[in-house]
Amino acid sequence: MRLVSYRSQDRWRVGAVLGSAVHDVDHALTGNGRPGLAPATTRELLRRYGDVLDEVDAAVRRAAAELPSARVGEVTDLHLGPPVDDPQKVLCIGLNYDDHVAETGRALPAHPDVFAKFASTLLGPGDEIHCSQVTDNLDFEGELAVVIGRTGRDVEPGAALDLVAGVMVLNDITARDLQYRGTQWLAGKAVDASTPCGPALVTLDEVGDPQNLELETRVNGVRMQRSNTKHMIFPIAYLVSYVSRFLTLSPGDVISTGTPKGIGSKRNPPQWLRPGDVVEVEVERVGTLRNTVR
Ligand code: ZN
Repeated sequence: MRLVSYRSQDRWRVGAVLGSAVHDVDHALTGNGRPGLAPATTRELLRRYGDVLDEVDAAVRRAAAELPSARVGEVTDLHLGPPVDDPQKVLCIGLNYDDHVAETGRALPAHPDVFAKFASTLLGPGDEIHCSQVTDNLDFEGELAVVIGRTGRDVEPGAALDLVAGVMVLNDITARDLQYRGTQWLAGKAVDASTPCGPALVTLDEVGDPQNLELETRVNGVRMQRSNTKHMIFPIAYLVSYVSRFLTLSPGDVISTGTPKGIGSKRNPPQWLRPGDVVEVEVERVGTLRNTVR
């Protein structure tokens, strides 16, 4: 299933993409005699149905065939937001690809390097990145992000993927000057409207092995990063388990798994994002995230 947030009457609602059309998930559930969602958001869907996403998928498919009113429109005609518009937590992992660690000149980490972003940084696919005014050093980080589907605490790595609903593409846009003014990275990672994600939350059954996906970042069509998620230092199951040792993971929480080599700041000379630049992050079987800088 490919879940999106789409704008309707000044709210985000959760939809499922089938072919080129979006179907309203709350409508599909109630039309199939299932309890609806209030609010009708992705996070509420995961909270109520995170254990039985295959049943949600079946309800959406039945609605697509038998319930024309559940069809919202063509995906290209809708304003899409972050697939989870209001996560409780957005965690990121720094330094999780060895070629990226090497370009930063640091030693390989002994533990995952965990930091946070605010939900207020999140943008949808196609939204403009409006933060070039606050920094001269705007940079990209193409990443695969995991979305949590079930509540979990203190899970073993072998059971950690059971907590994961699916994955999405995320661009961990960073203001490098703000990032390195102090010892905390927060300011450089917290700029309003700086973190595009999507285009959809793709459930794991549709992705297959999340640890073998090609990842590529392009700026104005020129390839800047290319790797595969198999090169992560700490794989997804380890990351989810590690984080769950000290906090409770909740439906809708996001964990972005780090970026490979090739970020703008480590190029010679550095290549910063400028207004008008188009940044694309593509992950195999997950999708392409394309945003313009303003
Ligand atoms: Zn990052």
